Amino acid sequence: MPQLNTLLAALGDGLRRHAGLIRGLQWLVVAFYALLLVVPALLPLPASQARILDNLTLLAQFIFWGLWWPFVLLSIVLFGRLWCGLLCPEGALSEWISWRGLGRGAPRWLRWGGWPTLGFILTTVYGQLISVYDYAQAALLILGGSTLAAMLVGFLYGRGKRIWCRYLCPVSGVFALLAHLAPVHFKVDEQRWRENPPPRLPPPNCAPLLDIRRMQGARDCHACGRCSGQRDAVRLSARSPNAEILLVGSPPGNNWGASRWDACLLLFGVIGLAMGAFQWTVSPWFVDLKQALATWLVEHDSYSLLQADAPWWLLTHYPQANDSFSWLDGLLILGYLSASSLLLGGGLWLLLRLAVRAMGRSGGVFQQLSLTLIPLGACGLFLGLSATTVKLLRYEGLALAWAQPARAALLAGAIAWSLGLGWQVISRHGANGLRRLAAFACLLLASGLVGYGWWLQFWGWS
Ligand code: SF4
Repeated sequence: MPQLNTLLAALGDGLRRHAGLIRGLQWLVVAFYALLLVVPALLPLPASQARILDNLTLLAQFIFWGLWWPFVLLSIVLFGRLWCGLLCPEGALSEWISWRGLGRGAPRWLRWGGWPTLGFILTTVYGQLISVYDYAQAALLILGGSTLAAMLVGFLYGRGKRIWCRYLCPVSGVFALLAHLAPVHFKVDEQRWRENPPPRLPPPNCAPLLDIRRMQGARDCHACGRCSGQRDAVRLSARSPNAEILLVGSPPGNNWGASRWDACLLLFGVIGLAMGAFQWTVSPWFVDLKQALATWLVEHDSYSLLQADAPWWLLTHYPQANDSFSWLDGLLILGYLSASSLLLGGGLWLLLRLAVRAMGRSGGVFQQLSLTLIPLGACGLFLGLSATTVKLLRYEGLALAWAQPARAALLAGAIAWSLGLGWQVISRHGANGLRRLAAFACLLLASGLVGYGWWLQFWGWS
């Protein structure tokens, strides 16, 4: 471990030393991102026999949804929010323009803690309505719109800061949750920071506006390395992937404790809503309900909801590809996603409340217990997004026979990880004997519920 930490510290210092190189890399990513986002949206839809390697639109689709997103998520679980600090084109553009903008202070409404949760919910739902994974125009609208918003916020607020990333980015809440699991983080020795020993380095520009001295976790840190070695108190260090969750609420005065928004986003968004979003296209419940409602509408001579005449930016509308959503489709997608979020998220919320009650505890234990489901939430996002990877590769003729066993292994591993964390949290809060077992039974049911949802998607319904 000491050797590993020495290596990591050198790596962190290297990030600080090579800030110019990193900025150059960011501009390369910006150019690549713009190319993949804008050019396919200007091209005609790919022909049915087109393939990834001979069609730019399909290639861009594969890179964005098949590689970029699943592996960005994976990188956050493995390395913390290195993606945000080093490579994210949106963050880089927002910071770049904020050096040249109005430099206003972030107003109070903008600092509301619920924006990342709300942003994630709205972009997920909207993305499903306009089929963001399938059409370049839709991807340009959502991702390009988000980039423009990030630049506008950067232009208005902060000076060389990333106000957008800190308060508004629709995926920052998800990234913050996943970063809890990172086995590396910039560790701050607060005592040493106060002593202020040499080297006397210039104060770092922490773009997401963190109080570096009091930072104790990887949740909000963008891992950009700009503060590495500051006052000889900040070091990139290894830690247990369970550390940040197990320590929540324990050390007095920690500044990164779980907020109710973390629990809300995890249960209702990352687990409940995301499962609905990945699932509705393969769900027989969705098809049955749609057929029943369509039949009922026809029998009652009511055809307006069956029209597929909404513009593409409101509901998927590509008649040339034989793919247009009716108003009924749109309403059912909204209904399915809401039901998935509320039923699954609500079920988990109830089970966690029951677990806390069984432990004979109250308050912050619920937040901490909910965080034990992060491995399951992260695994679900990875499974859902990588389903697109697998689907696109199968179109190319690859069998990928290992995909199902790999999914089963990932899911089983995530369930075991979440349960292990849950057991430790319950034990740390002093629940013994029957109380401990009853609380753990609630967690078993919660994991079982999520596992059952994924089983339906990948095995039960296929
Ligand atoms: S605390 Fe701020 S400056 Fe330091 S690595 Fe994290 S984001 Fe960068």
